[in-house]
Amino acid sequence: MKEKIIVKDLVKKFGENTVLNNINTTINEGDVVCIIGPSGSGKSTFLRCLNRLEETTSGSILISGDDLTAEKTNLNQIRQHIGMVFQHFNLFPHLSILENIILAPMDLKKMSRKEAEAQAILLLESVGLADKKDAWPESLSGGQKQRVAIARALAMQPDIMLFDEPTSALDPEMVGDVLNVMKRLAKQGMTMVIVTHEMGFAKEVANRVMFIDEGNFLEDGTPEQIFNNPQNERTKDFLNKVL
Ligand code: ADP
Ligand code: MG
Repeated sequence: MKEKIIVKDLVKKFGENTVLNNINTTINEGDVVCIIGPSGSGKSTFLRCLNRLEETTSGSILISGDDLTAEKTNLNQIRQHIGMVFQHFNLFPHLSILENIILAPMDLKKMSRKEAEAQAILLLESVGLADKKDAWPESLSGGQKQRVAIARALAMQPDIMLFDEPTSALDPEMVGDVLNVMKRLAKQGMTMVIVTHEMGFAKEVANRVMFIDEGNFLEDGTPEQIFNNPQNERTKDFLNKVL
């Protein structure tokens, strides 16, 4: 099993507020990890540390062996391997769907327009939105925007995908389509770290579930272990509230 992400003694503080309290974990290639926990527990901060959208206070993060926190690290190089999908899509409003998807590969990977467009069309087909290539983001539903956001992230051909509550801002009827796209990615072997409140998805798709509370990973196990036999009182308490 290849180690994809190694987190060692990760501490993140905002001022005096310790948001991540000495996190140690290893995520292997092909792992689909769902992170669950109460609001404000540090889920987004953890995810953002994994591609250094957030500077860590101390500790180290290795991505495929490269130290993300080292001074000499070529951050842009590492980030190209990590796709991120946010709750609020963040599509570029002034660009068509196709332009949204081809921008980064042309810019950062120096892909030709022709090649980037061909790839974008395949990606749009794979998320069921081939007919939207010339549409504007504002004309799409939330669920469609999120599927475009996933296609856009995949256009960089990442080998890790991070998702921060990708379905939390969606109307309920949109959630399934987005989760199906994610499910397919998981089946294809993508290494995924997903912050979610979709416990059904976590049970079905994740091979690991981690429970975080007040900046501590209190529990880490298979969905079976976490949902059917949680060990920690706080996990039990949290699951009682959300299940
Ligand atoms: P979650 O995603 O689990 O809801 P977050 O990671 O967003 O939690 O936040 C964890 C804690 O860190 C919260 O107390 C939040 O107020 C604090 N926090 C998050 N981002 C910042 C920031 N940029 N500046 C100061 N405090 C922050
Ligand atoms: Mg969050």
